[in-house]
Amino acid sequence: MQMSTDSAVLVINAGSSSLKFSVFRGVGAEPDAVINGQISGIGTAPRFEAKDTARRVMADRTWGEGEAADRAALLGFLLDWIEDHLDGARLIAAGHRVVHGGATHSSPVRIDDGVLAELERLVPLAPLHQPHNLAAIRALAAAHPELPQVACFDTAFHRGQPWQAQTFALPREMTEAGIRRYGFHGLSYEYIARRLPQVAPVLADGRVVVCHLGSGASMCAIHGGRSVDSTMGFTAVDGLPMGTRTGALDPGVLIYLMRANGMDADALEKLLYYRSGLLGVSGISNDMRVLLESEDPHAAEAVELFCFRVAKEAGALASSMGGIDALVFTAGIGERSAPVRARVGEKLAWLGVAIDEAANAANATMISGPGSRIPVWVIPTDEERMIALHTLRVMGA
Ligand code: ADP
Repeated sequence: MQMSTDSAVLVINAGSSSLKFSVFRGVGAEPDAVINGQISGIGTAPRFEAKDTARRVMADRTWGEGEAADRAALLGFLLDWIEDHLDGARLIAAGHRVVHGGATHSSPVRIDDGVLAELERLVPLAPLHQPHNLAAIRALAAAHPELPQVACFDTAFHRGQPWQAQTFALPREMTEAGIRRYGFHGLSYEYIARRLPQVAPVLADGRVVVCHLGSGASMCAIHGGRSVDSTMGFTAVDGLPMGTRTGALDPGVLIYLMRANGMDADALEKLLYYRSGLLGVSGISNDMRVLLESEDPHAAEAVELFCFRVAKEAGALASSMGGIDALVFTAGIGERSAPVRARVGEKLAWLGVAIDEAANAANATMISGPGSRIPVWVIPTDEERMIALHTLRVMGA
């Protein structure tokens, strides 16, 4: 298919009750995001909001009780609305963020019934995200069967990791059955890997530790533009403590809680995913901004534990690459929280990291000082753009 100024792609990131979307309009190799929005309250009181690039409200509508507004109806509405606001461009496909692509998918794929059935089999591996991703794909297919859809996986970028980075020390047959380290946030890391040579050409072949610190947080070792290790494993609960997730936890704790507290799988899942992390340690909030402003010593402890674990993982990931040439911060906390970056930087002083206070406070692109042995960068991530680029490529545009 020929990409022209008239081609547009819809990018969808679907959650349990909300769906974020962007429309990218293509000119040459770099498409532009022209509309961003979301549908929230799916299943209860749906609301549709859309903004243009200047963040001006283009639409804001709600559905009342008794109005037929299931997922397929809402996606049908979304598509019709987009087509009315494309200024003559033609929607050529929808690209979806799909959390799990299993052991086989190392790149995005065009979705057909076979692919959908295969992704359905991965639901038990990502029960909190995969069903919602697939529900949006199915709803869109029901509303507009003619629109091609592309799945872009959060696991794909990590599929080229060396086997030892992907393998648990479990009996072999379990690894073969798919109990292995997949890694997530791959679309974000792939975007950063793509940006690195533009930010600093010497980093194209370098060994870079990337810290994706959002409400979900993980880190990745990128060597020569490829993922070689990451902190998230079989699920997105491994690695760093997050807003409400534990991060890495001695598995013996789970056995203990099952025996001593009678906790079952559902109770453990709630504990690990929703009651722990910054929220659990502080007892106050899962939001880093709130904790940094709080006078409560438990808030300070939650921040300290978070920074300690980021620094510790940086050392581990540097070891996976046999060294480190640069450190990158990205996502909500990584892009905007100078105190967290400063604290992590102090803990990595042994590596020669020296953060420049003024540059850090200004959220500058380069925040290391002239005396730093390795550069430290802040690079905003853009998973939606990565999905748009993948979708255009799969469509041959
Ligand atoms: P998600 O993982 O949901 O995509 P984001 O990458 O948007 O999340 O990150 C959201 C988190 O970023 C918030 O929970 C908040 O803790 C944190 N955050 C956003 N802005 C700031 C800031 N100025 N200072 C500290 N933390 C911030």
